[in-house]
Parts: sequence; structure tokens; C-alpha cells
Amino acid sequence: MEAVDASQPYDRDNIFAKILRGEIPCDKVYEDEFALAFNDIAPQAPVHVLVIPKGEYVSWDDFSAKASDAEVGGFVRAVGIIARELGLVEPGYRLLCNLGADGGQIVPHVHVHLCGGKSLGRMISG
Ligand code: AMP
Repeated sequence: MEAVDASQPYDRDNIFAKILRGEIPCDKVYEDEFALAFNDIAPQAPVHVLVIPKGEYVSWDDFSAKASDAEVGGFVRAVGIIARELGLVEPGYRLLCNLGADGGQIVPHVHVHLCGGKSLGRMISG
């Protein structure tokens, strides 16, 4: 799959936009005013949840520059709530956000990978 150009305009037909609109199903883990979380379709760890803000932001760059304080705060709080609800705080977990070509971002709607359920080893390999 081709990596996202993080400076591209938001594509309302991207797969996470369709999930947000309910046009494509997802294995939902959590939802509130600011965020939706669902299990990754190709999990890389025993727990692999994607957390997405509800606003239309292509990348972390787009989100961190343009989202309101309420959206950023609500999203960050949601990630914390989900990790706590999944019981990941005590064993620990990893948050990952890919951006652009070097980051390996594939889906052009900003998302955080919340991974855990086993020791994840060193941060970067390959
Ligand atoms: P990234 O490389 O950060 O853009 O990661 C995109 C992630 O989205 C990958 O881990 C995919 O497995 C995941 N993914 C793609 N389509 C779906 C889907 N329909 N439901 C759940 N996860 C998906």
C-alpha cells in the first residue's frame, strides 16, 4: 500500500471516514464525543486498538495544528480512558502514530495505535 502524503487535503472517502459514518463496520472498543476506538483488522500485538478523533484530520501534523483545544484534549483523554478500561496501565502499553512516507502512514485519517498485552521489545525494528 502507498504511504500517505501528510500534506494532502482530507479525503472523505478514506476507510476511517467511512467507519466514522457507519458505512463500514468496525469492532468498536470505545466511543465518545471526540474519539472512536476499534480493534485493528490486522493486529500486531495481543491488544491492538486504533483510536481516531472524530474530526476530519489527515495526519498528526494536521490534527495538532488545526484541531481545537477541546478536540485535542478530548482525544488525549479518550486514549487514556481506553488504556485504563483495557487494563493496560499496570502491564504497560505503547502508543504509536505514523505520519507520512517515513512514518509508514497508510490511512489518511489521523489515528493512534494503542498496543499491548505482551512485552513489545525495542521501539523500532527494521
Ligand atoms: P497506518 O500504517 O498507521 O496508517 O495504519 C493503518 C492501520 O489501519 C493498519 O494497522 C491496518 O491494519 C488498519 N486498518 C485498515 N483498515 C482497517 C479496518 N477496516 N478496520 C480496522 N483496522 C483497519
